[in-house]
Amino acid sequence: MNENTQILAGRVILVTGGGYGIGRTAALTYARAGATVILLGRTLDALNDTYDLIEAEGLPQAAVLQFDLEEKDEARYQQLATVIRENFGHLDGVLMNAGVLGQRTMIDNYHWETWQKVMQINVNGQFALIKHLLPLLHDAPNDASVVFTSSSVGREGRAYWGAYSVSKFATEGLMQVLAQELENTSNIRVNSLNPGGTRTSMRAMAYPAENPITVPEADSIMAAYLHLMSPASISTHGQALDARELSAALSGDSANA
Ligand code: NAP
Repeated sequence: MNENTQILAGRVILVTGGGYGIGRTAALTYARAGATVILLGRTLDALNDTYDLIEAEGLPQAAVLQFDLEEKDEARYQQLATVIRENFGHLDGVLMNAGVLGQRTMIDNYHWETWQKVMQINVNGQFALIKHLLPLLHDAPNDASVVFTSSSVGREGRAYWGAYSVSKFATEGLMQVLAQELENTSNIRVNSLNPGGTRTSMRAMAYPAENPITVPEADSIMAAYLHLMSPASISTHGQALDARELSAALSGDSANA
């Protein structure tokens, strides 16, 4: 991957969950490729830390939007889109990355409140957000890209993954519905990406006995994240992709170039 190509120069990209983990690494990757990144998340300090990392490298100045996807009032999502329009005019990309794990337990034991919270953040909040961001994506001067974040348990159900697994199936469904609705009628492409096991706090929570050193860092999958946000993926639409496979294929491509 060569971020020095400035393949995202002049683009405005919103990253949900931009304060931690994969979202932070993706935001830095996009900024290094020339994008102005809008960092959305719950924890202001974490978002500010990502902002500072971008500043320290002299990259295009980022913006911070503190927002909780547990929000149930749709008007707040509309207000958020208005703030983005007032400051940036449009969006060229959205990485729907924020998410929560919930409990790792059997359905019999799953707490009702936790189930509702996971579905609210991972599905309902995501729906409200993308609904209100769509007009900004339609106004992108060239192409625009929406990347939803899936999981292997969002493509095949697995015991003890509860609401997280079900919410990722819903994410795939949202991606497919939106992709069909936008096909041939817009410049917006929509795909989902499964990062695969990646060294973050969510991974550590899901696999507490695992030695984190054995899990690949987020940098190792950024070729896929960058590709899907860049015009190089303009004909990729409605696909459920695997970040590790795609990154390997892309590095094979560049090695053969
Ligand atoms: P992470 O480090 O826990 O990051 C999750 C991000 O989501 C944080 O930035 C968090 O910020 C944000 N978030 C959580 N609840 C939120 C809310 N209510 N409102 C707004 N933002 C919220 O996890 P990660 O591993 O980087 O995960 C990123 C994505 O990849 C997730 O969708 C996850 O399901 C998916 N994924 C990860 C792995 C893996 O192995 N790491 C594997 C498959 C899929 P705040 O805490 O500040 O809200």
